[in-house]
Amino acid sequence: MLYMAKTPTWLRVWMDTDKTDGLPGPWQRAWKRAVQPAKVDDWLYGSIVPIKDVPKKFRKRYRRTLLAAAEAARDCGERWRVNSSFRTYAEQLSFYAKFLAGTGSLAAVPGTSRHEQGNALDLSGPDGMPIKTDVKRERALRNRGFSFPVLSEPWHVEHK
Ligand SMILES: [Zn+2]
Repeated sequence: MLYMAKTPTWLRVWMDTDKTDGLPGPWQRAWKRAVQPAKVDDWLYGSIVPIKDVPKKFRKRYRRTLLAAAEAARDCGERWRVNSSFRTYAEQLSFYAKFLAGTGSLAAVPGTSRHEQGNALDLSGPDGMPIKTDVKRERALRNRGFSFPVLSEPWHVEHK
């Protein structure tokens, strides 16, 4: 993300890191009320790419997606497994090559996957089942702004 010179320090801190240092008091309190990035680990585990490793232009969207998924898992009182989160173009290319070779599951053409934009996750429940196969989990995800756009992939969720 490109910042204008006048972007206040606290806003840059908030966007770039998970720290509340430098935030005005009310923002610190609001941040503490929300699910913290640290809390993501309480409700999600597995292949979670750290926010700092995601290109800046996708960070906000990726953070929002992770937090919403953690909230949905919390709503169900469960810890969910993330099988895939953010992917670089190169990673998507390798997934796509495996799909074409018949050794991997369906993968979007590199450059078109929501995984490359930070708002797609592949999730399974504590029982190992794809997340959409459980009605309670599906409802919790929909309530948190997720949809299930790929009919043949009941584990693939996309945040609005
Ligand atoms: Zn997916």
